[in-house]
Amino acid sequence: MSDILKSIEEELPKGVISESIFEGANIVIYTSDKDFFKNGEGKIKEVVDIVKKRIELRADKKLLASEEDTEKTIKALVEQEAGITNMIFDVQRSTVIIEAKKPGMVIGKGGSILKDIKVSTLWTPTVQRSSAIPSKITEKIRSVLYANNNYRKKFLNDIGEKIYKDWTLDKMDIWARVTYLGSGRQVGRSCLLLQTPNSKILLDCGINPGISKGPDRFPYLDVSEIGDISTIDAIILSHAHTDHSALIPYLYKMGYKGPVYMTAPTRDISALLALDFIGVAYKQAEAPIFRAEQVKDMVKHSICLNYGEVHDITPDIRITFYNAGHVLGSAVTHINIGNGAHNFVYTGDTNYKKSRLLDPAVNRFPRAETVTLESTYGAKTDIHPPMREVEQEFLDAANETIKKGGKILLPELGLGHAQETMLRVEEAIRTGKLPEIPVYLDGMLWDITAIHTAYPDFLSSNVRGQIFQDNNPFTSSILKRVGSPTERKEVIEGGPCIIIATSGMLVGGASVEYFRNLADNPKNLLIFGCYQAPMSLGGKVKAGEKVVRIEESGETVEVKMRVETMYGLSPHSGRNELVQYINRMNPRPKKIIINHGEVSKSLDLASSLYKMNRVETTVPRNLETIRLK
Ligand SMILES: [Zn+2]
Ligand SMILES: [Zn+2]
Repeated sequence: MSDILKSIEEELPKGVISESIFEGANIVIYTSDKDFFKNGEGKIKEVVDIVKKRIELRADKKLLASEEDTEKTIKALVEQEAGITNMIFDVQRSTVIIEAKKPGMVIGKGGSILKDIKVSTLWTPTVQRSSAIPSKITEKIRSVLYANNNYRKKFLNDIGEKIYKDWTLDKMDIWARVTYLGSGRQVGRSCLLLQTPNSKILLDCGINPGISKGPDRFPYLDVSEIGDISTIDAIILSHAHTDHSALIPYLYKMGYKGPVYMTAPTRDISALLALDFIGVAYKQAEAPIFRAEQVKDMVKHSICLNYGEVHDITPDIRITFYNAGHVLGSAVTHINIGNGAHNFVYTGDTNYKKSRLLDPAVNRFPRAETVTLESTYGAKTDIHPPMREVEQEFLDAANETIKKGGKILLPELGLGHAQETMLRVEEAIRTGKLPEIPVYLDGMLWDITAIHTAYPDFLSSNVRGQIFQDNNPFTSSILKRVGSPTERKEVIEGGPCIIIATSGMLVGGASVEYFRNLADNPKNLLIFGCYQAPMSLGGKVKAGEKVVRIEESGETVEVKMRVETMYGLSPHSGRNELVQYINRMNPRPKKIIINHGEVSKSLDLASSLYKMNRVETTVPRNLETIRLK
């Protein structure tokens, strides 16, 4: 048994503990003494003060009320209005997960109802929000975790054993370095390797979505620093976009067995996108590089953290996620190395301006010496116009089209951009800025939107407020789902409407179907709101080509519809926000590393930041290593 568990047991009264175990970095004590379970909190607090670690006290499974009785008790204690949809009993961990439409009503004032449940059943209850739009993927993930709870109990304990092996509270005299295995002077294949004497951590592991084949699609995973994949201690995933997440299931295929740290929405969305990634490979008659089994492996080994939760992941690394403002669940990762010996901030993709969907990225940290910042829009010319201006432009164009009896097609990225657009359009119709016409949603964005409704705590304070007041904008009757080819045909043949459909670049997906049917009518309007790769169908239409070929069907289409591009509503920071993010960062960093941007943009941003702040700035190439400490 590890020393920390031994010293905890020594501090507690004899005979009350039946098991002490790790759940990752958390410590759980099981007691076979009913009274100690009900009244032992004070004693546990004393021990927490000594070991400086959170300890959870649970009842031994022998003490638990039957599942049937517990269900009855919970239903009697919780008002019906709370809308309990499911109860999952995890007897191995003496916990019951209560899923409800209104979690607050299950928790009660100051946790009073949960406490009552605990005292009367001896189960330890936790509450999860049921998504307002049913989400198959979220349900499936929760059931995978439950089905594997014995495996997870052992897996989480093993991680704890590793973290606490040479556990100390003292500042360590250690070195740290970071190697850019991807995203160096490019957008795509984000992958960083962080090393210390005790740890090997991967930060993201994605593909280069702009390239369909060849080694440049993947990060440099064959470097000697990585060696055997199974020697990596942990993976940290900043967000679910495939340029950061797509290769994680592949790592499990190659023998990785450790944890992936991320937020819960990132877990759900990256699993959904990984399954889609397999589907796309099959459609293109290619063998996928991983299978559904490995997506399951990723879920089984996931450890989800909320924003602001400080968590040890190895003996010398402690992480905290903060809101990155980019897409649902996206995180800026603060990495405390060696008990404060060095503090490294990995921004992932960020947005420092407020959007409807999310609050701006956090740039205040307890301590920070080095920051690595993205630079997708890092050039001096990448100034995003004010949101209000772009929105007015959108409203004017949309109103003109509707007056003429045309349809409006908005091809969108399924994650982030589409939900922002939905909120904007829903609000415009609700407040009379657009006439009451139907808004149709088609493609994978529906599933991703459903996941948004399960995690309002990760949304902007505004939208969260609307959801808590029962005005969920995502379930508004203005937004209609297109669920079948027949329904799609009705939309195409029907009157004026707005269609939001994936994919964003008109490469595969529902948006292509609408485009080929709407393109030859000059009354219709197409608005591009997200990045268009030059060689994609969207890129060609955006460039003004009047006759285009559709890859999937081989047919040619004449483009007579009006085509507009409206950037500025991007989920990334523009140049000004990137500069502000650093200039207003607290504390001021001593070293700035720029990645995730084209060469010229990255260099441009780095030199401006150097001139303004007079601190070391670096723009590493792929395979370069930077010493942090
Ligand atoms: Zn992203
Ligand atoms: Zn990215």
